[in-house]
Amino acid sequence: MLPLYRPSLTDSYGRQIKDLRISITDRCNFRCVYCMPESGVEWKKKSEILSYEELTYLAEIFVSLGVTKLRVTGGEPLLRRGVINFIRSLASIQGLEDLALTTNAYFLPEYAERLAKSGLKRISISIDSLKPKAFELLTKVNALGRVLEGIDAAQKYNLTPIKINMVVMRHINESEIVDFASFAREKNLIARYIEYMPLDGPGEWSRDLVVSGREIFEKINAVYPLMLLSPNHKSETAKRFGFADGAGGEIGIIAPVTEPFCGACSRIRLTADGQIRTCLFSLSEHNLRDVLRSGASLEQIRQFIINAVLKKEDGHKINKPDFVAPERTMSCIGG
Ligand code: SAM
Ligand code: SF4
Repeated sequence: MLPLYRPSLTDSYGRQIKDLRISITDRCNFRCVYCMPESGVEWKKKSEILSYEELTYLAEIFVSLGVTKLRVTGGEPLLRRGVINFIRSLASIQGLEDLALTTNAYFLPEYAERLAKSGLKRISISIDSLKPKAFELLTKVNALGRVLEGIDAAQKYNLTPIKINMVVMRHINESEIVDFASFAREKNLIARYIEYMPLDGPGEWSRDLVVSGREIFEKINAVYPLMLLSPNHKSETAKRFGFADGAGGEIGIIAPVTEPFCGACSRIRLTADGQIRTCLFSLSEHNLRDVLRSGASLEQIRQFIINAVLKKEDGHKINKPDFVAPERTMSCIGG
């Protein structure tokens, strides 16, 4: 175990970094329209991708610097062989308080039990439509049934609280906003509605396709009156709501485009090929893989991470005239 190191990770705007998202693969078995192009994607070479040993070592260092929460993501993290043992090694890191995973749930019916036993605490599942045909149009895979089974399996093995993530897109799935809330009530889930961000593979994002958090709130509130819940912690990205009639489940609205929350951001990312990204929208990266593979000492790696965090941007520029979308799409960053 690495002892806690001071100073902990604080950026130049005074934000403490507590939350690290680790992408373990850039590959995916889905092709969600808002994330990955249908063809022409070039996967990273195996030699570029960090091994589980490297990832675990780096995760330990981040935790020794004050990170308390890890989220494993991708691409589709359950596609990478050995993920269960990897989760087990992360779960044993001293000082870690929370370990979560984001998945499209395709492999969850087979994996949920082993994930729970390996020490995973919680799971977030992407599901953008509850209608089989629309689901297939959005993901290019006929898999709604498996994803629903995956949700049931996660519930069965207590990977709770379970969040289901819906990226809301104008004309595409906006008509299902209330259906999702009904589903959350019925199944006692946290339904999270995410504004569509300019990180899509095909590069087709436009402001006209964004359904604002306010509009989402109004649509749900008109059918199921909502009451505001207090945030779980000060860097919570979602505005949380409960159902005023006391029904189970919860609503979370994440509005990075129309109501940015950068001022309270406590997050950084490590891509599968070992690049630190201090913001989803960063235009430059910090090559931790090369530092690690150059034989750097523990102290040198820590200093590299501390310096990278000091360069964290004050916020994204989606709403500014000089906005430039990053080259990496969401599947290569790790959402
Ligand atoms: N494959 C896993 C999944 O889909 O849950 C994990 C990786 S995926 C990149 C992580 C999250 O990013 C998903 O909830 C997905 O909906 C979200 N996401 C991807 N592209 C997005 C975009 N352009 N805008 C908003 N959210 C996006
Ligand atoms: Fe794959 Fe997740 Fe991106 Fe969909 S959102 S293409 S499941 S990485």
